[in-house]
Amino acid sequence: MKKHNFSAGPAILPASVIKEAAAGVLELDGIGMSILEISHRSAEFIAIAAEAESLARELLQIPADYAVLFLSGGASGQFSMSAMNLLNENQSAGYLDTGTWSSKAIKEAKAFGKVQVLASSKDQNYNYIPTGYDIPAGLRYVHVTSNNTIFGTQLREFPTTDAPLVADMSSDIFSRRIPLEKFGLIYAGAQKNMGPAGVTLVIVRKDLLGQVDRHLPSMLDYRIHIENESMFNTPPVYPIYVSMLTMRWVKAQGGLEAMERHNEAKAKLLYDEIERNPRFQCTVPNPQDRSLMNVTFVCTDDADTKPFLAAAEAAGCDGIKGHRSVGGFRASIYNSMPLESVQVLVDVMKNF
Ligand SMILES: *Cc1c(COP(=O)(O)O)cnc(C)c1O
Repeated sequence: MKKHNFSAGPAILPASVIKEAAAGVLELDGIGMSILEISHRSAEFIAIAAEAESLARELLQIPADYAVLFLSGGASGQFSMSAMNLLNENQSAGYLDTGTWSSKAIKEAKAFGKVQVLASSKDQNYNYIPTGYDIPAGLRYVHVTSNNTIFGTQLREFPTTDAPLVADMSSDIFSRRIPLEKFGLIYAGAQKNMGPAGVTLVIVRKDLLGQVDRHLPSMLDYRIHIENESMFNTPPVYPIYVSMLTMRWVKAQGGLEAMERHNEAKAKLLYDEIERNPRFQCTVPNPQDRSLMNVTFVCTDDADTKPFLAAAEAAGCDGIKGHRSVGGFRASIYNSMPLESVQVLVDVMKNF
C-alpha cells in the first residue's frame, strides 16, 4: 500500500529525488563510480557542492556578502556555534522563546554571553507566538525559531529591530520567501525540508564574523569553513548531494513562490477540516500562528485518539502521532508532501 509520510523529520523527500539519489549510489552520472566512494576533492563532487551553493543562493536570493556553508553537527550544533562566533561575554543577545528548540538555543548561548529572553510562550505550552514585546537597543543579535516543529506554530512576520536576526529555520527553510536582508545568520538542519539527515545549511553575513575575543576551535569557526569552502574537513558528501537534488526539484517546481502557494493550499485543506469537524481541535488557537509545515491537533474526546490513529495508519498515513510534549497528532506537510496525501488524511478525518 502507498504510504503517506507525515513524519516530522527525517521527513518526506520528493519521489523523483529518491530515485535519482538511489541511481547516484549505484553510479554517478556515467563516471563508473558511486557517489559514496568518490573523493570530496574530485571534480565531480566539487561541481555538486558548487551547484548546491548556487541553488541555495538563487532560491533564497542570498547576496554576495553572505557565505553559504554546508556543515555537520545539526541545528543543535549551531545553537552553540552561532553564539560562540557572534557574541562576546560582555555583550547581550535577545532570544524569542517559542518552543523546545528555542529554549535549547537559549541554554547553549548562555555559555558565551548575556542572554535576554525577549518574550516566551511557555506559559501556554508554546501554543502561540508572542507579540507586543519590546526589543531593547544595543543587542548583538536577536534569535528566533522561524517554525516550531513540535508545537505547530510559525513566525509569519519577523521582529523589527536594528540588530541582525539569527534564525533557526530547520523546519521551514525553502518553504516560503523570506526577507533575507533582515538576517545576519540562518541555520537549518537538512532533514526536515531540505534533504536527508547529516548536513546543516548555514548562511552568514561575513562582516559579523571575527569580532569575538575568545579562541575558536577551527571546526567551530565559521571563518575557517568559509576560507575552505566547507571543505576544511571531509564534508557530508552524500547528504549534500541529495540536498542539491532536492533544491533542483524546488527550483523546477517554480522556486519559493510556488512552494509557498503549494504549502498554503495543503495547510488550508487540513486546517479547514480540523475547524469544520467537531471531533478534532487544533492545538494552536490563533490561526495567524499556525504552522504551514507542522499541523498539530487533538481529538475533542480523548477516547477517539487511539482509534483515529489506527484509522489513519490503515489508510497509509504514517508518522502522525504527536510529539510527547503536545500529545494528539502532528501532520508534517513539508515541501515534498503532495496535496493528494493531505487529502487522504482529510478523508480519514471526514469518514471517522
Ligand atoms: C529538528 C530541529 C532541530 C534539531 O535539529 P538537529 O539537526 O537534530 O540538531 C532544531 N531546531 C528545529 C526548529 C528543528 O525542527
